[in-house]
Amino acid sequence: MASDYPPGRGRVSVEAAGIEIEGVSIAGHESFYKVPAFRTLLEFGRAPEDVVGYANVCVTHGHLDHMAGLAHHASRRRLGGLPPARVFVPAEAAADAAIWLAASERLENVGYGVELVAASPGDRVRLRNDLELRVLPGRHRVPTVGYLFSEVRLKLLPELEGTPGLEIAERRARGEAVTRREEIPLLAYTGDCSSDVFDAAPELFDARVLLIECSFVLPEDVSRAREYAHIHLDDLSARAGEFRNEAIVLTHFSQRYRPDEIRAALGKLPEGLREKVIPFLPD
Ligand SMILES: [Zn+2]
Ligand SMILES: [Zn+2]
Repeated sequence: MASDYPPGRGRVSVEAAGIEIEGVSIAGHESFYKVPAFRTLLEFGRAPEDVVGYANVCVTHGHLDHMAGLAHHASRRRLGGLPPARVFVPAEAAADAAIWLAASERLENVGYGVELVAASPGDRVRLRNDLELRVLPGRHRVPTVGYLFSEVRLKLLPELEGTPGLEIAERRARGEAVTRREEIPLLAYTGDCSSDVFDAAPELFDARVLLIECSFVLPEDVSRAREYAHIHLDDLSARAGEFRNEAIVLTHFSQRYRPDEIRAALGKLPEGLREKVIPFLPD
């Protein structure tokens, strides 16, 4: 059977610093990433069967290789009897996304009930008691946002360490603060971006896992990367010392490259960065 994907490309599953990410990412073709630990889907350039169950979707921008699944996902959830999904989209793209959904509902003569959330940098949403989503600035040719998932913990105030539990409970009952909030940035995702994103969102350097596009890797494509506001591998080399991440998952490689060309190019990254990088490519 003919594959819809270029040779050597298609479904990918990686584990990066303990976080499982599965999906597809090919520039201009489609991107979606399932992150089971967060019960969240990043992008839906398409809505295959196994992403339909995801009720939280974070879309970075309106290019259709990231968003074409919007109405399809909603329609399939409805057919499957699932409750409407919550879909985060950049605030500037929310009105058009709503129009598209409304038109699809009229075409199908049904209601999807999708909860579209207009996402602006700085917004924070509690996904679970222990998990927070923060919207980061993006940098691309259309309105774009990034997303940061952080584990939230309440830790005992340092001055109360060693205090008997009963006393802590009494202090709490009196309305005294006994804990402080600790945020552990687990996963940052940029969507499509130019290298300007590093200045706009320095949080990217501190997430345990950075999921970031690297559409272009070969020297002859530097100007192409600039023109289309994408990352070139050179942009990462230039900042090699700044990535404090445990793992960096590179995605959205151009269809022009074969997987072996991509791996060879990544092999030339500076030491220290090279060891952290995981290409989002099939094995
Ligand atoms: Zn894209
Ligand atoms: Zn794009």
